[in-house]
Amino acid sequence: MNVIPIPCLSDNYSYLIVCEESNQAGIVDPSEFAPVWEVIQREGVNLVAILNTHHHWDHVGGNEELQKKIPGLKVYGHHSDKGRVPGQNVMLQDTDKIKIGNLEGHLTHNPGHTSGAISFYFEDSVFTGDTMFAGGCGRLFEGTPQDMYQSLNEKIGHHSPATKVYFGHEYTENNLKFALSVEPENKWVQEKLAETIKLRKSGKFTTPSTLESEFQTNPFMRCDSPEIQKTVQNRDPGNDLSPSSILAVIRKMKDDF
Ligand code: ZN
Ligand code: FE
Repeated sequence: MNVIPIPCLSDNYSYLIVCEESNQAGIVDPSEFAPVWEVIQREGVNLVAILNTHHHWDHVGGNEELQKKIPGLKVYGHHSDKGRVPGQNVMLQDTDKIKIGNLEGHLTHNPGHTSGAISFYFEDSVFTGDTMFAGGCGRLFEGTPQDMYQSLNEKIGHHSPATKVYFGHEYTENNLKFALSVEPENKWVQEKLAETIKLRKSGKFTTPSTLESEFQTNPFMRCDSPEIQKTVQNRDPGNDLSPSSILAVIRKMKDDF
């Protein structure tokens, strides 16, 4: 399997997943047509599927033009996103499998950012859209803090720590600055932020991360950190410090960061 990140719009990533044995490929979240099509042509792959993590325009913007170019293209999305994902022709159930050539993937339904949000798994990689970012998570547009807590920590988080995390936006630098503001003594965040600033200065991507790194640096996956709990208590003295109550407070703080 080869994964090619394709920067789109101002800070989105689409990802081309290539089965090297068959030369078939799938595209995760084609934000827009032109940059994605350029890479598909350059690589000379046979695109068989669009994999949408959720219905937002910046993740599905290229769907219809790709479908026009390639009749019969499969367009995957969660069954609950039916009618919201342009051109969707496969309504995924949580236990479904997805084939790209000889690659077989699966999904988790991880509501929180949106009600139909899903992540796709192929080999040692997960594609998380706007649910898990490096150092952060998406805004809670259609879900509760409890939904997002479970999605990040229990659904995606129960996979192997070595799992590579391919996320939907290049927000890493800002996310880690926020992470440091709620957990200033976290050495992993300090180091990763310094590394991230260096990468971004030289125009490099910060994708992919790993689940291990997220458990070390992502405040939304560190609700058991005493330092984060102290931050939350200062902000909200009556907080019961349950994981979802902590996530609720830091998500709100991030909204205003
Ligand atoms: Zn989104
Ligand atoms: Fe997005």
